[in-house]
Amino acid sequence: MSEREIERWVTIRGHRVPIYKGETEEDVHNRFLESIGESSKKDYSKYDDKKKMIDDFTQTNQMFINGRGDLEKCNMRVLADTFNTIESVSNEYGVRVSDIHSFVSLTDNAYVSESSLYLNTDLFSREELLNRSYREDAANRYHPKAPNGAIGVVSHELGHMIFYKHIDNILEKYDGTDTTFEKVHDWLTEGGTPDFAEGSKAYNVYKELDSQFKKIEKKLNSKNIVETMGSTYKYGGKNYHETVAEAFCDVYCNGNNAAEVSKVVYDEICKPYKKGK
Ligand SMILES: [Zn+2]
Repeated sequence: MSEREIERWVTIRGHRVPIYKGETEEDVHNRFLESIGESSKKDYSKYDDKKKMIDDFTQTNQMFINGRGDLEKCNMRVLADTFNTIESVSNEYGVRVSDIHSFVSLTDNAYVSESSLYLNTDLFSREELLNRSYREDAANRYHPKAPNGAIGVVSHELGHMIFYKHIDNILEKYDGTDTTFEKVHDWLTEGGTPDFAEGSKAYNVYKELDSQFKKIEKKLNSKNIVETMGSTYKYGGKNYHETVAEAFCDVYCNGNNAAEVSKVVYDEICKPYKKGK
C-alpha cells in the first residue's frame, strides 16, 4: 500500500485533518464524519444504478415503498433530488416519511398525509415536463422559485409534514384526539371563525395556532396571513396549510432570498423544529 500524498491540512471541529492529493474539501469532510461515526449525508445524485439507489435510500430511512415498479420508472435525477430533499429535511427537522406511494394524475404533483408521501410517478418520470411546469408556475408567482421541479414539489410537501408535526405537538398538549384534529383541520382549510365550544380541546388548539398566526400578521403588518401569502405566491393563498408549506419551500430553496412573508411564517412555525438552529 503506497502512502497517499498529503496536499495540506484543514481543521474540522477542532481536529487537524489532512487533505490528500485529489480530494475535495467535501470528500475530506465526509471522511472525517465517517471516522467519528457520524454518517455523512448521502448524495443520491452520485449513484449510477437506479435500483441500488432506491435500495440504499429505503434501507437508510427504513421506508416502505408502495408501487416500487412505478418508482423505478421515475427519472433518476428526479429521484435523486427527491431522496436528497427527503433525507435532508427529515434529518434537520425531525419529520419522518415512513412510506412513499405512487399515483397518476393530470393535475396533482404530490401530496402528503402525516407520514406518507404520494408522488405522481407519471410526472416524476418526465423530468423535462416536471421542471418546465414548475418553472412556469414559479414565473407566474404561483409557487416560490426552486432549483428544479422535484426539489420545489418535495420540499413543499415536507413543509406540510412539519406543520402536521407542529399541530400534533399542540394536540398532545391538550390531550386532543383525531376528532379534535379534524375540527382544527377544517378551520385551517376553510378559515373564518370556528364555532368550537369555548374551553374545548379543539378551541384550545385553535386558540394557540391562531395566536401564532396573529403574531405573524402583526410582524408583517398584515390583516390576513393567508391573503398576504397569496399575494406573493398564489397557491399559498389557498389556506393556512398551503401558506406554511409554501413558506417552508421558499426558505428551504432560497434561504435568505426567500420572500419576507415566507421568512416570518417559517421563523414562527418551522424553525423551532430545526436542529441546531
Ligand atoms: Zn400543499
